[in-house]
Amino acid sequence: MNTNEINVIRERLSGKEKIVIVSHRNPDGDAYGSSLALYHYLQGLDQNVRVISPNDSPDFLKWLPKQEEILIFEENVLEATDTLNEASLIFTLDFNALSRVGTQMQLVLEKVSADFVMIDHHQQPDDYAFITYSDPSKASTCEMIYHFIEKMKDLDRINIDIASCLYTGIVTDTGSFKYPSTSSSTHKAIAHLMDIGIDHTKIHNDLFDTNSYQRLQLLGIALKNLKVVPDCHTAYITISQRELNAHNFKKGDTEGFVNYGLSLKGIVFAVIFIEDQKQGIIKMSLRSKGNFSVNEFARTYFNGGGHDNAAGGRSDDSIKNTVLKFLEILPKHKKELQLSYEN
Ligand code: 5GP
Ligand code: MN
Repeated sequence: MNTNEINVIRERLSGKEKIVIVSHRNPDGDAYGSSLALYHYLQGLDQNVRVISPNDSPDFLKWLPKQEEILIFEENVLEATDTLNEASLIFTLDFNALSRVGTQMQLVLEKVSADFVMIDHHQQPDDYAFITYSDPSKASTCEMIYHFIEKMKDLDRINIDIASCLYTGIVTDTGSFKYPSTSSSTHKAIAHLMDIGIDHTKIHNDLFDTNSYQRLQLLGIALKNLKVVPDCHTAYITISQRELNAHNFKKGDTEGFVNYGLSLKGIVFAVIFIEDQKQGIIKMSLRSKGNFSVNEFARTYFNGGGHDNAAGGRSDDSIKNTVLKFLEILPKHKKELQLSYEN
């Protein structure tokens, strides 16, 4: 965010604003971490602020400080719609296209009179905000919120709650600091958060060591369903609604499954196809290593997008046809995948 934009925000915050922070549908650690960090920070500035999430979060985020104050759109449509309509400033965090909040909430956001501030690290931002702070080189939106607070000259306002929220988004979106987007600037921010006194061991435990027996059983099914296309250095997993139901599926249970495909020796492209009968779609998560852009792949063929090495997509067809379509497309990218493997 440039100095001019910081000054505009400072100016706006010196008046009476009604602020809403919006996260994307199916919020992850970075979406909730960044939204709540900004929420705590703005509350510290005595601002009138609320967080609205399109739908509920997985249980592994339920410990985040003040997450219980987040208004869930899907469960409180009238109150959330009124809150959005009355807002004067709306921060959209960790997404860059209004479609990422889901159809019903998107229709509301398209009609509000508030000015939008986008803070996000995905590629190819849409043009809906009066301030667009977009930086795809950053590993997480939480890291961007840290720099936003830094530019506001308020680093000393980062308390333990803000620091714990920021740490959560950074650690989840960097794969615990291993993805290529992790930089020295990421570690500098983390060093500061640790100096503030966060309990990083407890945060890791709360985020990653909360498996239920059913989830591990479901992981077993996912691994049994794992298939490999060796000449394309690709692995994919399918999980049907029947398999989800048989394991008492809860939101977040399939988080991270796709990474098992990518952990196979020789694999640079991994996909998971998850049937969602309620929404009538197949939800896809795509991951890659090296230069092969899953953002481009998801955008071109599966109505999605994200980052070069982590993206999401969807299909309205059956799981069987979606996989067939995927297997038909895959050979077209054989050369790129081979290069990604060799580099
Ligand atoms: P995940 O596979 O964990 O759902 O998402 C991976 C990354 O891609 C995340 O950064 C997420 O925000 C983004 N993403 C997931 N689904 C979509 C989608 O349908 N459209 C776009 N543009 N990005 C997505
Ligand atoms: Mn993110």
